[in-house]
Amino acid sequence: MRMRKKRNGDKRLRDLSDLIIKSRAEIVSFPVSLEIGCGKGAFIAELAKREPDKSFIAVEKCSDVAVLAAENVARAGIGNVRFIVGDAAGLGDYFEKGDVERIYLNFSDPWKKSGQFKRRLTYRSFLAVYKSILCDGGSIFFKTDNEPLFDFSLEEFEFSGFELRGVTRDLHASEFAADNIMTEYEKNFSSRGFRINRCEAFLPANANPRLRPATADDLPDAGRMFDDAREYLGSHGVDQWQDGYPPRELLEEDVALGAAYVVEIAGRPVAYAALRRGEDPTYRVIRDGAWPDEKPYATVHRMVVDRGHKGTGLAAFVFGEFARICRGEGLGALRCDTHRDNRSMRRALEKNGFAECGTIYLESGAARVAYHKPLN
Ligand code: SAH
Repeated sequence: MRMRKKRNGDKRLRDLSDLIIKSRAEIVSFPVSLEIGCGKGAFIAELAKREPDKSFIAVEKCSDVAVLAAENVARAGIGNVRFIVGDAAGLGDYFEKGDVERIYLNFSDPWKKSGQFKRRLTYRSFLAVYKSILCDGGSIFFKTDNEPLFDFSLEEFEFSGFELRGVTRDLHASEFAADNIMTEYEKNFSSRGFRINRCEAFLPANANPRLRPATADDLPDAGRMFDDAREYLGSHGVDQWQDGYPPRELLEEDVALGAAYVVEIAGRPVAYAALRRGEDPTYRVIRDGAWPDEKPYATVHRMVVDRGHKGTGLAAFVFGEFARICRGEGLGALRCDTHRDNRSMRRALEKNGFAECGTIYLESGAARVAYHKPLN
């Protein structure tokens, strides 16, 4: 929503500070329902009046618009709506898994130009954030006048493991019209003759990523992910895994040792990694640096994420789960190595608490950057 800069915007926001949430600690009752991109807030105000026993939080990244919405809520004396002024991408900083029972997305920006689709609030990276805070059985209620955005969103929901319900291309002529609360954009678009698309995306328990030990049955899926990853690395000029690594026997050995893991979403494997306990012989010698400690460790090898699920936080999920497993086994550190040119892996390691320690050499003699993450 484009707005002229509001006079005294910052001061007005400060006056409403009781309504603005800055951290999870300030949220008094769970679960909550969210509207993301609330605009001037007519929808959330009406919804909160209709459901006075529920708690609502409206999220709006544009502070000038959020001021108007918060002033409306204050003026109307509505007690069960508060606000987060910020970007939907950061909702993981405010909420934990299970905190949120419902998310409303009304007339989200369509980002029509090619190359902008990753900014859509129904893109898979946003859906991964919503999944990480929604309770199992929670839902996203989505409305838009924009047909291409609606088609895109239906695909993204299904891709991410949501189940679709109540899909209609003409909300105002459907069974959902009776309970519908019109938003500002909705009034505008429908008065101009646009039909409104509507759906509910329901989160079944198995849509959340789940790490489990892999079996031989998972190896064809893992093989496909490695094929894609080799092609990706090769096309980005990274000379890693280009000799057909990892050989089938190595993956079978991972399985036999209980070191093979997959992440599955809605029953489909979407990531593979090996967690090898015990000393790695290639880590005995380290150059241009040193390991920070010699506590017993496990090594993460062969991490690969399905092409379609890149950028949805699965690497962070695997590192988190591996850290939990290793702590449970009394290990003091996780280690890993990767090719110097593998920027995406190095970024993932650094974002997840691994520190670069030096250079190690594979059996073949090839150099790799060595990483270490202490576990407390
Ligand atoms: N829901 C309202 C407004 C729709 S316009 C209505 O239906 O009338 C979309 C709104 O989403 C804008 O106010 C915009 O500032 C907000 N928005 C867009 N991207 C956002 C993001 N990443 N996080 C939070 N709000 C966002």
